[in-house]
Parts: sequence; structure tokens; C-alpha cells
Amino acid sequence: CGIFAYLNYLTPKSRQEVLDLLVTGLKRLEYRGYDSTGVAIDSPDNKDIVMVKRTGKVKVLEDAIQEHFSGAEYSEPVKTHVGIAHTRWATHGVPCERNSHPQRSDEGNSFVVVHNGIITNYNDVKTFLSKKGYEFESDTDTEVFAKLVHHLWKKHPNYSFRELVEQAILQVEGAFAIAVKSKHFPGECVASRRSSPLLVGIKTKTRLATDHIPILYGKDADSGKPQELRPHGQTRELPVLPRSDSTSEFMPMAEKEVE
Ligand code: GLU
Repeated sequence: CGIFAYLNYLTPKSRQEVLDLLVTGLKRLEYRGYDSTGVAIDSPDNKDIVMVKRTGKVKVLEDAIQEHFSGAEYSEPVKTHVGIAHTRWATHGVPCERNSHPQRSDEGNSFVVVHNGIITNYNDVKTFLSKKGYEFESDTDTEVFAKLVHHLWKKHPNYSFRELVEQAILQVEGAFAIAVKSKHFPGECVASRRSSPLLVGIKTKTRLATDHIPILYGKDADSGKPQELRPHGQTRELPVLPRSDSTSEFMPMAEKEVE
């Protein structure tokens, strides 16, 4: 099980280049999981998310990607582009395309998630969301996270992408690393982890890029306060978000701190 995300900013790249990077990332992670794989990237008009998922090894996905994205509409270079990818070692739900990641919030692919690890209270979250009308299409614990973010987005339309994911993280238990992409927040990717490793690499060529990218959010190692992290070691303190009580009806440990 491994997740890989790629965000390119300012330097135009073709979707094929982005897809190649995602597949290369998955190949490096393949030893961590082996039953199914998948990717999600922006659609040519950036208004939707295109997903390709397969049961089997990364090579099977690579061939499927080749076939799926061979059209001319995918060859246009794009400036900002987000792709997320996954290689799965199933814990909840048998290996099959339906259970492969990315998992999605709804048929419109509002939020799509790749996830490494286990959400241990997924059943409680699933029951809560089912009562709100959500219908589940997989047997994974992961799908509840995508739908929980969607639920929070409807409830808090003014929240930023980071705030939505952070609020969702506060409601789930377990050890995991996740990366989330949304068609409502084009050009953004939010990743988070709890007790699982997650590495972030930043490559910037110009000062211009570093000045403009609101890149990473983390926590100050000493104070535990949220921070925006920028290249060259610059940081900016962020406001501590009010804790949502919206989902506490299924969250017995609502006071749990995000690590
Ligand atoms: N628990 C998730 C699933 O079964 C993720 C497994 C993994 O880490 O690959 O789909």
C-alpha cells in the first residue's frame, strides 16, 4: 500500500508527463502493495476528474492509462495540474476495481482520495453518512473519508480545502496517510498522515514560484501549532481551526488531536 501525489505549478507539462511521473512513483512503491492500482488526474477542461483503476500490478495500470489517455485532448500542456495515485494492499474489501483507489465522494468526483492504512472507526462514520443519504459503492474504509469531506463541504461552503480535510481528519481514527484531490479546488492537493510515513518533496526553479505557492501545512514541532511551510525554511503561523461539532454524533473521540 502506497500513495503518490504530484502537483505541478507554473512549469507547463503535458498530462502524459504527469501520468508518467505518477506511474514511476507507483513503481517505486510497488513493493508495499500489490493487488490493485489507480490514478486520478484533471480532465482536459479542468472541470472534472478522470480516474483509471485496475486490479493487478502497476504494469496493468500503465497499459490502461496508455489506452485511456491516447486522445489528442490530453496532449495539451497544462500549467497547474494535480495527480494522485495508489497501489493497494487490501485491508477492507476484496481486491477489485470497485475497491481500488482513488475512492470518490460522489458520482461527480467532487473529492477523490488515495489512502494508505486503516480508518478504524469507518463503520461508525459510514452509518452516520448513510443516514445523511450517502450510498456506498465500495467495501473500503477509504470511501467514508471521501464522503465525509463531501458532507463537510456541503455543511461549510466557505471552508478552504485544507480546513475541510482537517475537519474530516479530526473525525477519523486509525493510522494512515492520505492525499485528496477535488474538482472544487483545482490545482490543490491536500495530504495528511497520522502515525504513518508521508514524504513531501518540493522542487522549485525560480524565486517567483516559491513566492507564490501556498504549499504545505504542518505543525510546529515544539508548539504543535498549525503552520504554513514554505521552501527555504520559511514558515507562517496559521489560525487554529474551531473544532467542528457537526459530526460528533458518531465520533466518540472528537477531542482527539490530529498528529
Ligand atoms: N484500507 C484501505 C483499503 O483496504 C487501504 C489499504 C492500503 O493501505 O492499501 O482499501
